[in-house]
Amino acid sequence: MTGTGPPGAAPPASSPARMLGRALMRRCPLCGGRGIFSGWLHMRDRCPTCSYRFEREEGFFLGSYAINLGITEALLLLLGILPCIVILASNPDAGLGPVIVGGAFAALAAPIAFYPLSRTIWVAIDLMLRPAASHEPTDRD
Ligand SMILES: [Zn+2]
Repeated sequence: MTGTGPPGAAPPASSPARMLGRALMRRCPLCGGRGIFSGWLHMRDRCPTCSYRFEREEGFFLGSYAINLGITEALLLLLGILPCIVILASNPDAGLGPVIVGGAFAALAAPIAFYPLSRTIWVAIDLMLRPAASHEPTDRD
């Protein structure tokens, strides 16, 4: 940690764009530290660099589920529903097999693919709305 505050204190606040950029790189939105995931689907409880506790309250990650659902629905719309409408508008007898396969793939793969990003993006959004208090990183449960 490179903060100028007391040892164990939260890093200085970053701009929203910087926190979102860190989140998109699967890094800690607060400090930019790496290694916040121990696997594709497992986010550590705390940042290994700044010790920031990601789940600030019970049910905290409900927002990340909403982000993941929104991304999945958008991809399903783009890869499944819109192509069906376009194809059927131009040829009502056209086969929709490839489009249905694309939509099904989007519906199954997108939630897994975007799971880590939805979590880090949600942490970044929460930090924008409720900046980390100086006592948060070192308070252990
Ligand atoms: Zn951190």
